[in-house]
Amino acid sequence: EAGLEKRAANYVPLTPASLLARAAAAFGARVAVIDGERRITYAALHERCLRLASALAGRGIRRLDTVAILASNIPEMVEAHFAVPMLGAVLNPLNTRLDPATIAFSLRHGDARVLIVEAAHAALAARALAELEQPPLVVSIGQAGQDAGVPYEALIEGGDPAYAWKGPEDEWQSLCLLYTSGTTGDPKGAVYSHRGAYLQALGNAVTFGLSGESVYLWTLPMFHCSGWSYPWACVAAGATQVCLRKVEPAEIFRLIAEHGVTHLCGAPIVLSMIAHAPAHERRDFPQVVRCAVGGAAPSSTIIRTMEEMGFRITHLYGATESYGPATACLAQPDWQDLSDEARYQRMARQGVALATLEAVTVTDPETGEPVPRDGSRIGEIRLRGNTIMKGYLGNPGATGRALADGWYATGDLAVWHPDGSVEIKDRSKDIIISGGENISSLEVEEVLMRHPAVMLAAVVARPDETWGETPCAFLEAKPDATLPSADEVIAFCRERMARFKVPKRVVFGPLPKTSTGKIQKFVLRELARELG
Ligand code: ADP
Repeated sequence: EAGLEKRAANYVPLTPASLLARAAAAFGARVAVIDGERRITYAALHERCLRLASALAGRGIRRLDTVAILASNIPEMVEAHFAVPMLGAVLNPLNTRLDPATIAFSLRHGDARVLIVEAAHAALAARALAELEQPPLVVSIGQAGQDAGVPYEALIEGGDPAYAWKGPEDEWQSLCLLYTSGTTGDPKGAVYSHRGAYLQALGNAVTFGLSGESVYLWTLPMFHCSGWSYPWACVAAGATQVCLRKVEPAEIFRLIAEHGVTHLCGAPIVLSMIAHAPAHERRDFPQVVRCAVGGAAPSSTIIRTMEEMGFRITHLYGATESYGPATACLAQPDWQDLSDEARYQRMARQGVALATLEAVTVTDPETGEPVPRDGSRIGEIRLRGNTIMKGYLGNPGATGRALADGWYATGDLAVWHPDGSVEIKDRSKDIIISGGENISSLEVEEVLMRHPAVMLAAVVARPDETWGETPCAFLEAKPDATLPSADEVIAFCRERMARFKVPKRVVFGPLPKTSTGKIQKFVLRELARELG
């Protein structure tokens, strides 16, 4: 090793900011972002980020200062994911559907020095800011009226297009702060490093097959886990990102057809929306569209429906704590011998580690040892590697619990199959324990989703004097479907699952969902409790 020590030429801190500089140098004329009529080339995107970074530096923003942003999927959101890291500052994307008090909590807890706000969310921001003793500098995107803060475009105009950004001093330095939803207590702020985000960008690009030919549609909110790290992944690959403010099937189909979209990501609910779009909202398109699904378990039925419509599904699993996707359900050699039905069921498994994650394991909750790879013993999924968060900001207790023993304990219960793939049975808090038997709510939902009238199914525990808990099914029907009676649904289940797993109660109606399209099981548990 003598004379081969680290040098500035070959040992630079990894940072996603460098991906944009390289893309601008390599293919500056290529379109990086499409938003309505607007086209931003890689060269222009790079220049706007340099200007923004320098303007923020000019306003006194330094390394490790927090810059929060409250915006939907607009070009400025992409810009923030590069300009803020250029400064070595910390980006804090905020969920636009939260209440003012929670936004205020994040701004205070994260010690935000700047809040960038899209005009559409100015009222929400104002209410949150009113709760703060020391409000941050407000930067406003779009027409927000008087006193709305410094106009974003004025910052860009006054910025330096030749700004010599320095990025982080060290690649372990904090890059992003992402608050979890906080359904139990105050939200926790997961912190990402430059190194982790850089690696995750590459892992995502490889896993999802992104290239310079790819056109990526933003059906996933960028404020959620920094868009699963796809703003960086798209730039690493040189892909074009298409903005979308409101996730509606007609608009999704229009953008797919008009811009030749090749990739999109979404929660199962987004797929369900696409799959059940009315005929007049659909559009034909010649290209293959790869669709990554994750954030909650997709049923094999929705995977089948989408594949039959011509989409190609990649199933991803992860959490805010893992920069988005940590595992992917990658095809195994024996899939080619399977029937379509069996293959779709395999695709509903959460799969194996992304290339950039060191390892995934399933451990016995009692012994902490890995469970056998037999596809039947249930344990907790744990993840380990460079693409796991640094920890929760200012919360050593929660950090210690989440990252004990060098693994991130996900709280997701799964079996481990002989081929190495994991299959989630439930989140630990969602599992139903009936007469001492564990019932996987996902397994019951999987069966319910096969009923021709059912569009969405959610099964939760309902307290029961005899059994402790019994499964209670909440079902959202397909548009125009004739509703079956509860008894018919129960009979349908009886033919397809063990008796103790069959829901004892069945309720039809729209299901409550989070801003990211996850079904709110805690709301349903309350409803189930209140059922007479
Ligand atoms: P929240 O905890 O608010 O839902 P996250 O987005 O971090 O926020 O959620 C991560 C969790 O979502 C995982 O721990 C897991 O329970 C669930 N999840 C994510 N992707 C999948 C998937 N493909 N299949 C099943 N569950 C998933």
